[in-house]
Amino acid sequence: MNAFKELGLEDHLVQAITDLGFETPSEVQEKTIPLLLDEDRDLVALAQTGTGKTAAFGFPMLQKIDINSRTTQGLILSPTRELCLQITNEMKLYGKHCKGLNVTAIYGGASITDQANQVKRGAQIIVATPGRMKDMISRRLVDISKIEYAVLDEADEMLNMGFFEDITEILSYTPEEKSTWLFSATMPKEVSLIAKKFMDSPTEVTVGHKNMGSKNVSHEYFVVGARDRYQALKRLADANPEIFSVIFCRTKRDTQKVAEQLIEDGYNAGALHGDLSQNQRDVVMKSFRAKQIQMLVATDVAARGIDVDDITHVINYQLPDEIEIYTHRSGRTGRAGKTGISMVIASKSEVRKIKSIERIIQKEFIKKEVPNGMEICEVQLKALASKIHDTEINQEIEPYLNDINSLFEDVTKDELIKKFFSAEFTRFFNYYKKSKDLKSQSGSTSDDNYRSDNNSARFFINIGSKDGYDWMKLKDFLRDTLQLNQDDLYKVDVKDSFAFFNTDAAHKDKVLEFFTDFKQDGRFINVEVTEKKSRDRNRGGGGGGRRSGGEGGYGGGRGRGRNDRSKGSSSGFKSESRGRRSDSDSSSSRSPRRSSDFKPSGGGDFSRARKSRR
Ligand code: AMP
Repeated sequence: MNAFKELGLEDHLVQAITDLGFETPSEVQEKTIPLLLDEDRDLVALAQTGTGKTAAFGFPMLQKIDINSRTTQGLILSPTRELCLQITNEMKLYGKHCKGLNVTAIYGGASITDQANQVKRGAQIIVATPGRMKDMISRRLVDISKIEYAVLDEADEMLNMGFFEDITEILSYTPEEKSTWLFSATMPKEVSLIAKKFMDSPTEVTVGHKNMGSKNVSHEYFVVGARDRYQALKRLADANPEIFSVIFCRTKRDTQKVAEQLIEDGYNAGALHGDLSQNQRDVVMKSFRAKQIQMLVATDVAARGIDVDDITHVINYQLPDEIEIYTHRSGRTGRAGKTGISMVIASKSEVRKIKSIERIIQKEFIKKEVPNGMEICEVQLKALASKIHDTEINQEIEPYLNDINSLFEDVTKDELIKKFFSAEFTRFFNYYKKSKDLKSQSGSTSDDNYRSDNNSARFFINIGSKDGYDWMKLKDFLRDTLQLNQDDLYKVDVKDSFAFFNTDAAHKDKVLEFFTDFKQDGRFINVEVTEKKSRDRNRGGGGGGRRSGGEGGYGGGRGRGRNDRSKGSSSGFKSESRGRRSDSDSSSSRSPRRSSDFKPSGGGDFSRARKSRR
């Protein structure tokens, strides 16, 4: 008998499961579906995203509601619009053989009238984000007084996002006797509290251990000098040509900068953070899903609800402050039965934190070295070789072959292979041949390995380590005295008797004005605008002003087959080439992912045309 049928699901639902290609129930499905079908009860299920939990609550809900009635009977609350839409789509797929089923998504940023009209047509199930749901209730556009099943999905995320009061209010409009099913990846106090407040002796189901990450994810860390973080990131990407990853940064500024830098260096990257408009975020997510973006650089908040199944790597560009956040980050990979790797780029001082994460997730991290240049060259060469081997021959080159053949008349197959691969190999080889190994010894603990920014101002200040400041203390001092935010100050570089720091150009006047005639302990503190280059002087390499526009990787990109390229627009911001920048990895100033020498100059159009023909 079909394994899903054995769980108690009816034939039309089992048919949908077969159509979807699910063969065996996941652990959370095995544990919850029979319980929920058996009798109406409250349930708390601890399960990561990607474990199949939507189906775990979705199928029982579909089986239990009355499709012939137009009353709203099921309500699913989810933290983000993204997740809300995903659940809605999944529910529609699960219920594709339920004639007359109407699942409606209610979320902010779209027309409330359209959503109200859909509800009016008779939505048996509403999937909603708390903010818009509350709004709809207060305008009497929905009626949830006859709800029989309420799901709180990703409850920990909803509470993290401050939805406690909204949830409380929404649930107050639902009947007491409904069943409530709460799903959460982690079990912080707040979630237990909500379970106590809204549920009646809930049955507890745990998939894996509490707060423990997916068993399909392995964890690795790379100790590097803080200034080498960005170079390490690039190498990790170069050493994994098929990477499809989310890269987590701590602040919006870092997220934007890392993404911009990656784009400029020829990677298929995009940024996802709260300073982008909803529309920009949608564009980025669309490109990411289509795999036009291989490296999505995101903040924790913006990455909530990213439900993309085949992410190969999560890279912690910086570790999060809270260990629970690490569990969420790493849970973005290793989904739907696939394996994944969660990598941490750590400075020496962060190793202790890794040890405490190990204790919580009950898994050991593997300590690894950042691949050296030659290892990367080898990986890239092999990846190119198998790509060429698997390339389908385009018959349209036929008319040109005569000319090409005569050009190569004096070249043997062996030589031809060597020449062909040398043309590409040399690019990576030249870039990496003199590069140093990235280990933890390099000096600074400041985290700003990006080039200077045209929109920022660099300042000189006449206090330094002699005065008891390290970069953190100076940053704190400046932030407090200038009343700036954490993100507003960066590139703080402390020398013996002076230091440098950056702010956005918009704060320039404020900084200068503030420090005019400023005295501390009887001493004048002098702040001046300085040249941006100062901190890069003692660094290796450094590219001249280069324009973005090349294609990345060997052989003109490595867009995992479907789409080869995404540039600029998909990231929701414009990537600009800037002046001199530090680049400790490049013996040649050119990133190996920049345009191949023999590519047609209109590369962008060429790849667009290719895409549209498909
Ligand atoms: P979820 O945890 O609900 O976000 O599910 C993650 C992904 O796994 C979704 O794309 C589901 O379609 C898929 N999925 C759910 N259940 C199964 C299953 N039993 N077998 C294979 N894939 C599944």
